[in-house]
Amino acid sequence: AQANVGVVGLAAMGASLARNLARHGNKVAVFNRSYARTEHLIDNYGDEGTFYPAKTVQEFVASLERPRTAIIMVKAGEPTDDVINELADLMEPGDIIVDGGNAFYQDTIRREKEMSARGIHFVGMGVSGGEEGALLGPSLMPGGSDESWERLKPILESIAAKAEGEPCVTHIGPNGAGHFVKMVHNGIEYSDMQLIAESYDLMRRGLGMSPDQIGDVFQEWNGTELNSYLIEITAEVLHKKDEKTGQPLVDVILDHAGMKGTGTWTVQTALMLGVPVTGIAEAVFARGLSSEIELRDEAAKQHFAGPQALIELGDDERKAFIDDIRHALYASKIIAYAQGFNEITAAGKVYDWHIDLAAVARIWRAGCIIRAEFLDRISESFETGQADVLLLFAPYFKKAIEECEASWRRIVATCAAHGIPDPVFASSLAYFDGLRSTRLPASLIQGQRDLFGAHTYQRVDEPGSFHILWAEPGQEEIQTSK
Ligand code: NDP
Repeated sequence: AQANVGVVGLAAMGASLARNLARHGNKVAVFNRSYARTEHLIDNYGDEGTFYPAKTVQEFVASLERPRTAIIMVKAGEPTDDVINELADLMEPGDIIVDGGNAFYQDTIRREKEMSARGIHFVGMGVSGGEEGALLGPSLMPGGSDESWERLKPILESIAAKAEGEPCVTHIGPNGAGHFVKMVHNGIEYSDMQLIAESYDLMRRGLGMSPDQIGDVFQEWNGTELNSYLIEITAEVLHKKDEKTGQPLVDVILDHAGMKGTGTWTVQTALMLGVPVTGIAEAVFARGLSSEIELRDEAAKQHFAGPQALIELGDDERKAFIDDIRHALYASKIIAYAQGFNEITAAGKVYDWHIDLAAVARIWRAGCIIRAEFLDRISESFETGQADVLLLFAPYFKKAIEECEASWRRIVATCAAHGIPDPVFASSLAYFDGLRSTRLPASLIQGQRDLFGAHTYQRVDEPGSFHILWAEPGQEEIQTSK
């Protein structure tokens, strides 16, 4: 036994993580179901550090120093269960199994329970940053026992991305906490990407700009409060030409956005917790509608022409309109992050996780897909208690929203007038306006519910539940409980 850590699953993510570990002086045991991937890793990158390639899972476990640490990076779902069980059968109490795949947090809670009953520490760890992040420094979100964190800390800190010298890894909380936070991270990623796409669409269809010109705008925006990895790569994608046709690449890519499930989980979970994550939900639905290519084609060509998308503006007005888009993007982005953090807070209460939101924002500052300059402001707001009630109440975000508000309204109104879909801009603004309403029409809904289903209602001036005998003459109100 010579390796201080092992990696099972050597596809894109696992191979990169194993190399990252080896480059940082770890002695890394590696195993993959089919040996070809292991061979490929050793043949091409074996000289990057110390690897112990294993042909069987028995050999893999035997090559690990005790207490053992094995990181699994295999397909989420059943394959992960299979690999966990195979390892656990060969491991001993005190050993650590880390699942770095995109597991559903409920599965992680179940697996942690099963493993802890066998004396094995099970750590569900969110890994963000894709293949490149895994190799050069990911953002890591481990959840599990305090003891496993103490042991994993030096290893994980060595391979994590660094933000201002600080490693982007923190102990998120027990059992499913790490995978939960990674799930919400991905949900926020969905809304961030959709907002960028809506901004692009407005410039493309609304202002008739070319992908190159829009790429320049995004490049410029990357020097503003919007500075982030997603804005940066958007410029790169928009500037890319297709080698085959010479056209902008974005014009030859089919307009059907794929998804693997973490966005859907974020929304399903939010519904269960009763937390409105409108931005994330609309972003997931937008991907769903994008997949209905034939239906959209039929609707557009045979049924609904709609208004003219092109917005006719003079040069100065165009400049001002592009600034409006930037503000609408920033305000909606703040809403998406705020909603995501609300979901983490709500789950933390249900599962007793005690998640440090400032620390979560800090580890998202580098390595991960949603890394953005304004995460510094988010972590400060949580750290100082300014965001205790709501992130939007923290002075920095309150001011930012106020500064963007007029632009945001103009953009949503213009989208509606010109028939350009803006589901996340519009729903974020609707959420904001709902939040600002001291009185909502929910009173009418309660009235309807009482009429058709005797669901009762509460009064503004008296405690208790009330019901009206709608079918009775006089329709008198009765009190059903105090
Ligand atoms: P895949 O999700 O494509 O999974 C392929 C790996 O899983 C291969 O090593 C494969 O082995 C192994 N595998 C599949 N089924 C089994 C099984 N029944 N028993 C044993 N091994 C099995 O690989 P990725 O590298 O893309 O992702 C790995 C994990 O990381 C996934 O859970 C993914 O969700 C997560 N993740 C991925 C990110 C990304 O950007 N791709 C980002 C963050 C997390 P074999 O070679 O023998 O087929």
